Amino acid sequence: MKRLLLLIGAAVVLLAAVILVRTLGYDSRQVAAQPVTDLTLDAVAAAQRLAGALRFKTISYQDSTQLDAAEFRRFQEYLTRTFPKTHANLGRETVGRFSLLYRWTGSDPTLPPIVLMAHQDVVPVEPGTESKWTYPPFDGRIADGYVWGRGAMDDKGSLVAHLEAIEMLLSQGATPRRTVYLALGHDEEVGGRGGAAAIAALLDWRGVRPAFVLDEGGAIATGLVPGVAAPVALVGIAEKGYLTLELAVRVDGGHSSMPPRQTAVGILSAAIDELEEHPVPGGIRGPTAQMFDHLGPELPFGMRLFFANRWLFGGLLASRFGASPAGNAMLRTTTAPTIIEAGVKENVLPSTARATVNFRLLQGDSIAGIVAYVRRIIDDPRVTVTIPETFRTEPSPVSPADAEEFRLLTRTIRQVAPEAIVVPWLVVGGTDSRYFASLTPNVYRFGATPLGPGDTERAHGRDERMSVEGYGQNVRFYVQLLQNAAVNDGKK
Ligand SMILES: [Zn+2]
Repeated sequence: MKRLLLLIGAAVVLLAAVILVRTLGYDSRQVAAQPVTDLTLDAVAAAQRLAGALRFKTISYQDSTQLDAAEFRRFQEYLTRTFPKTHANLGRETVGRFSLLYRWTGSDPTLPPIVLMAHQDVVPVEPGTESKWTYPPFDGRIADGYVWGRGAMDDKGSLVAHLEAIEMLLSQGATPRRTVYLALGHDEEVGGRGGAAAIAALLDWRGVRPAFVLDEGGAIATGLVPGVAAPVALVGIAEKGYLTLELAVRVDGGHSSMPPRQTAVGILSAAIDELEEHPVPGGIRGPTAQMFDHLGPELPFGMRLFFANRWLFGGLLASRFGASPAGNAMLRTTTAPTIIEAGVKENVLPSTARATVNFRLLQGDSIAGIVAYVRRIIDDPRVTVTIPETFRTEPSPVSPADAEEFRLLTRTIRQVAPEAIVVPWLVVGGTDSRYFASLTPNVYRFGATPLGPGDTERAHGRDERMSVEGYGQNVRFYVQLLQNAAVNDGKK
C-alpha cells in the first residue's frame, strides 16, 4: 500500500515536472522590430479618398449579367483621378471583364516580385435593410471617427489603401528594386473565377513566380481571444475549402390522410438531424495548432501552462475553444444545412424533398472524404447525396509560418503596431488568393485594420465601417511593407 502511494506520488511529481518544464520552455515566437515613427500620413484626407470609393455600387452578382458595368467604369475612373502619380508610373491592364492588374516595375529583374491583392466588388445590401443603416450604405459618409459604407472593410479598405501607399511612396520619390503587382479582382464575392483566377492564369502564363502574395483575410483583433488583452494580428496562412451537397428523397406521393410512417419530409429531416448530431471530427491541428503555438507563449502563466501542454490538455482546450461557432469553425469541417424544399399543399404528401448542405473543409479533409462521410452518417438508401454543379474547392495549402516572407510580414506588422502579437491563422471564409497557390507557396491573408467584437458581422451585414485611425494604420502598414519588401528588396 505504501509502495503504491509512493509510486502514485512519484508519478504526480514527474507529471508536474514535465508540465512545468514544457511551460517554461515555451518560448515566444514574436519577431523583434523597431517601431516606425517617421511615417506621417494625413489620415483624414486618406479617409476621405476611401469614403469617395464607397460611393460606387460595384456590386457583384451570382448572375453576372446583373453587374452594373458603368458603375465599375466610374469606380476605375475615380481611382485614376484620385491617385494620379500611381496611374502615371504604374502599368495597368484590364483582365477578365473589370479586374485590374497594376505593375510597378522594379529595377532588379532578378528579384521575384510581390503581389498585393484586393477586390473591387462588394456584396449587395439586403433589400429592406437600407433604412436600418446608421448612414446610407453607398453615401461614403465620415462620422464619429469612422468611414461608413458597404465595402469599407470588405474590401475597399484594402484596395484603396494599396493605391494610397504607392501614391505616398511615389510622392517621396521612392522607386522599387523589386517589382510589385496589384491584383484587384471584380468578382471575389461570387467566387473570383472571372477575375482573380484570370489574373493568376495570366501571371502563370508569363512565368511570374512571386516571392509572396498578400490578400485580405486577417486583421488586428482586440477582445476576440478570451484572456488576451493585447491586440492579436491574425495572418491567414491557409483558408478552408468549400463544398455544397444536395440531399434528395424521392418517394410515392399520396393523400395526407393515410401517410406512411415517414414521409419524404421526415426522411430528409432525419438525415439532416444525423449530420448535425455527428459533426465532422476535428481538433487542434494544422494552422490552428500553429496559432496556438504562437499565441501560447504570450499568455499569462496559468493559461500558458495549458497551451504548452496540449498533449495533456488538448481535448480540454479544444472543447473550450470550440464552444463558440467561430472557434468551432477553426477546429473542424463545418456542416451547415442552408436550404430545404418540399411540399406544395398542406394535404398532399410530397414525392420529393431536397436539402442543400454547405461544408467548409478543414485542412486534412477533402471533398471526396466529406461525401463519403456524409453517406456513411446518413446511412439511408432513400436519401441520395449529390454534388451540384456549383462552386467548390479543396482546402488551400498551408503557407509556411517560418518562411523568410512570413517573418518579413511579421516584422512589418510590429513596426506599425508594436503591441500586436502576430499569429498564423486559418481563414474560415474564402479569398481570391486561393488561385495563386500554384504560383508561390507563400500566400498570406492580412490587413492591418483593427477588428473588435461585433465587427465581423458588419462586413457583409449592416453598418459596415472602418475607423479613420484604423484605416491610417492600414495605409502605414502597406507603405512599410512596400518599403521593406520592394524598395529595400526584403533585406533588413
Ligand atoms: Zn472580401
